[in-house]
Amino acid sequence: MTTTKEKAIALCRVSTQGQANDGNLVPQQQNVQRAADTLGVDLVKVWALAVSSRKGKNLKRKDLIEMLDYCKRYSSVKYLIVDEVDRFMRSIEEYYWWKMEFKRINVRLIHANRPDIDPDDDRTVFDELIDVYRAEQSNNERIHKTPEKMMAKIRVGYYPSNPHTGYKTSDIPGFHLPDEPNWSAMRNAFKAMIAGECDISEGLKRATKDGLRTKNYGPKAVGGKTIDMYRWKNLMMDDYYCGVVRLKDWPVVNRDGIHKPMITPEEHEILVAIAKNKGKRFIVDRNNPEFLLSNEAECADCVLANKPYPRLVGYWQNNGQTKNFKRYRRYRCRTCNLGVRQETFHAGVTEELTKLLLSDEQRDKLKKHMRKVWSSYEVERMERARIALGRVQLLKNKKSDAMDSYVAEQDVEMKHEIKEKIDTLKLEIAEAEKIAAEAQDFEKDFDEFIGYAFDIMDNLGTKWWQEDKATMRVYKQMLFPRGIQLSQDKKVYIPEFSVIYRYASTKIAPEGADFTRLEGPVRLELTTRGLKGLCSTN
Ligand SMILES: [Zn+2]
Repeated sequence: MTTTKEKAIALCRVSTQGQANDGNLVPQQQNVQRAADTLGVDLVKVWALAVSSRKGKNLKRKDLIEMLDYCKRYSSVKYLIVDEVDRFMRSIEEYYWWKMEFKRINVRLIHANRPDIDPDDDRTVFDELIDVYRAEQSNNERIHKTPEKMMAKIRVGYYPSNPHTGYKTSDIPGFHLPDEPNWSAMRNAFKAMIAGECDISEGLKRATKDGLRTKNYGPKAVGGKTIDMYRWKNLMMDDYYCGVVRLKDWPVVNRDGIHKPMITPEEHEILVAIAKNKGKRFIVDRNNPEFLLSNEAECADCVLANKPYPRLVGYWQNNGQTKNFKRYRRYRCRTCNLGVRQETFHAGVTEELTKLLLSDEQRDKLKKHMRKVWSSYEVERMERARIALGRVQLLKNKKSDAMDSYVAEQDVEMKHEIKEKIDTLKLEIAEAEKIAAEAQDFEKDFDEFIGYAFDIMDNLGTKWWQEDKATMRVYKQMLFPRGIQLSQDKKVYIPEFSVIYRYASTKIAPEGADFTRLEGPVRLELTTRGLKGLCSTN
């Protein structure tokens, strides 16, 4: 004797594979089985899967299409059981559309939490509608809330998006690791461009040669391709590489991302200037003149303890009163929060600076070394001079041709026109010659630079504070090779003075000041950090 029991299928759904792996499907599977038992039907097939049910995504959902096909093939299936409304669909329109699709082939949608109610009862219809409405609303909320969650991640230094070129994902979502060879290829090229060793296209060439290729991350990305100039400039201008974490158009920015930066924020500024074709010897950075030493000085204890972020940063502090409101400029250590008033710290540095004195002999040596460094900046100018001279020759050739045709021309009007053309060419030649001469006149510029440099060094106590940050950094690297530090008792502590100076009080150069072995005032390069190896960025 056979019973023709009615049959049911069921859907158990979670949004992500992670939820499925965490066992979130199991309770649903139990619920739908219980509902089938209550209805007295055979549960013949269950679709258990991870798929999004967000609004607009449901009409093409593979699981639903499969289920509908199944029901069409087996007309004994009379029920489709889902645990709760939101397991089926988070969209009012799509919910009822799919419900009707199944109804047309005589399959009724059943909710596991109330399997035996009369589907046509007013109350049932209303309750169902409310549930579907809630499901869609909570979906909207999710869409709305996700950025807030992501912004919270950014606030603590994670990058909740695809890794940038040069980085790869790690086991921790949003924490990206250097991806070799891209990371080193980019870093080395960036550093070389910043130091003025090469220009943009040479930098790109080097990086490409070192293995820089695109990655597969992101919806439109194609992996394994070389980077073009447009993209290269974008990479140069991306502050992610100096540790900044932000997402387009979002209000939250974190300058201390947890990923390993390639370059410092200051170096980033230089790269941006180069990418925007404003590569100058000294990049003016007046972003924060109040805190010239922000990120330029370190906390002595934290340096000693080898902490990754021993740098001091400037900030404003107020006295917390609404009446008599006051703000103080202060510096604090990013690691241990040791703080000092900005005026106190600056005064301490000024005091150290006024102790420094340059002897005549040292002056000569310094000049010699400076010339060496200076010449490395002249590569670009020599190129400009070469181009200018080429243009002079070209214009002269044109002029000579024009002269020939002037002589040969019989027509008076044409002759007049050629004459005008020759006059224009003469002016252009004069102009090009002037540009060429200027580009070739390295000596004059060097003398100006030396005069400027010595003037600064003779008046460091005041000059130091009048300069932009990039220039100050040059001084710092020349004078205090191991940087400027703040000791626990809030005093300025200079671990090492450059040998180019001697102390005014002793009138002799420090012991071991053998200039002949020096490469130059070694830290005259614009961008070398004062604390190689001590900072996380190196
Ligand atoms: Zn500290």
